Amino acid sequence: MPPIKGTVEWEAWRLKIMAIKRSKTKPIIERIMARVEKTDTYWLWRGAVGMAGYGIVTDRTKTPYTRSVHRVVYEELVGAIPPSLQVCHRCDVRICVNPDHFFIGTASDNHRDAWLKGRKSNPALLPSSREKISIKIKEQFRTGRRVVLHKANGDLAGTRVVKHDG
Ligand SMILES: [Zn+2]
Repeated sequence: MPPIKGTVEWEAWRLKIMAIKRSKTKPIIERIMARVEKTDTYWLWRGAVGMAGYGIVTDRTKTPYTRSVHRVVYEELVGAIPPSLQVCHRCDVRICVNPDHFFIGTASDNHRDAWLKGRKSNPALLPSSREKISIKIKEQFRTGRRVVLHKANGDLAGTRVVKHDG
């Protein structure tokens, strides 16, 4: 039974409940690593993937709360990402979040690197149902308003409107 609202006891009780809730929320990097499958080379993200092919994760402590998994991994395991720069991948696997494969670059570094490598994604390493995404959703994604979410097994899990942070 909570104390009567507005009393000193109620305030103490409320703070205690909030502290318990906070302590039950796992750090974002732990939540991410629980959904990463490591191979000899890659750290494969098995959670939700946005239409751009990169992993996305919900972090209620941030705005916007949908964040790119590779950016969070970089910040947590490597260091801060300088403003307006991107976390680029040396490997060709967009769902890979192995920090050894990351480097910081500008958007044009990222595009040039991808272009030089020919960015041939290995279909075995990508979510299996990406090709099933409807034309309509693709169109919405192009306008930057909606991403498609996948379950860990690659099935579609629905869509979500996000503001991309890179
Ligand atoms: Zn990689």
